[in-house]
Amino acid sequence: MKRIHLLIILFLLAGLSLWGQNTGMETVVSMNPWVLVIQGGAGGPPQGTYTPEKEMEYRKVLEQALQAGAAILRNEGSSVDAVEAAIRVMEDSPLFNAGKGAVLDEDGKVGLDASIMDGKTLMAGAVADVTTIKNPISAARRVMTNSSHVLLVDGGAEKFAKEQGLEIVDPSYFITDQRLKDWQKSHEQKAVPKQEEKKPGTVGAVALDQAGNLAAGTSTGGMMNKKQGRVGDSPIIGAGTYANNNTCAVSATGHGEFFMRNVVAYDLSALMEYKGMSLQQAADYIITDKLKKQGGDGGLIAVDKNGNIAMPFNTQAMFRGYMNSQGQIEIQLY
Ligand code: ASP
Repeated sequence: MKRIHLLIILFLLAGLSLWGQNTGMETVVSMNPWVLVIQGGAGGPPQGTYTPEKEMEYRKVLEQALQAGAAILRNEGSSVDAVEAAIRVMEDSPLFNAGKGAVLDEDGKVGLDASIMDGKTLMAGAVADVTTIKNPISAARRVMTNSSHVLLVDGGAEKFAKEQGLEIVDPSYFITDQRLKDWQKSHEQKAVPKQEEKKPGTVGAVALDQAGNLAAGTSTGGMMNKKQGRVGDSPIIGAGTYANNNTCAVSATGHGEFFMRNVVAYDLSALMEYKGMSLQQAADYIITDKLKKQGGDGGLIAVDKNGNIAMPFNTQAMFRGYMNSQGQIEIQLY
């Protein structure tokens, strides 16, 4: 008799626990923290220059980029995959100065730079001054994973991308009417574009995945009216991009020559590693003190190994946003 009672109690308990699962009572969401931060370029016009509709267009693409990367991180994908996916969305949008819609050099041509770094392995890949690779960030990724090199330039990078089966396009694919107009105007005026004419647009992403691995990537068309063959900070590991699981992942934007001379992305990691500074302290010091004193316009996005983020800039605007495992999503332009 006692046995029957025991069986009935066990049966009831099993039923209760099943009911609990079905109603979500016992459901435990075991997601490790993840974070994705993106940037769509520093500089650009002061608030009020863009129409609300134009700002909305930018916000929409920034959100699409965040969602593309977050879908990977949520499903326990790697930070490297998330960074590449987020950047591809912005490269494909004509709004940003990366991939389609890149700025034109002094000869009216496009030359694209990109890099990516894996904070777990410290492996990195980059391409510079390419003119036919539809998504330079994916070419950078292939250099990292499928070659023994870090940086390939120009025709060599394009040959490699083709061999890797990446999409190749005619250079005219990248040139939008808006960029052509901007370029023609600046040539007619023979002047440096005014602040309100400067449009932000370099793109980048940094991420911490559920396995605790950091990654960073950056992609750009560089500076408007740059000399043919000029390469900026974006494809230079340590200047525009850096990631190290011991410290942080960084993607920079701004006047590249300053970021190269100050080795900005690595400087941030080094200040944390050797000086014990927090991510925010180190990032603020570099952007709003060190670079500002030199006249180096720009900003950066960064995430540390604990998921803290920093997004300092010393310009009027820096298009940026983040999303994390707590369900927070935020996009800011100014
Ligand atoms: N840093 C980029 C370069 O100098 C430009 C930018 O971020 O706006 O090429």
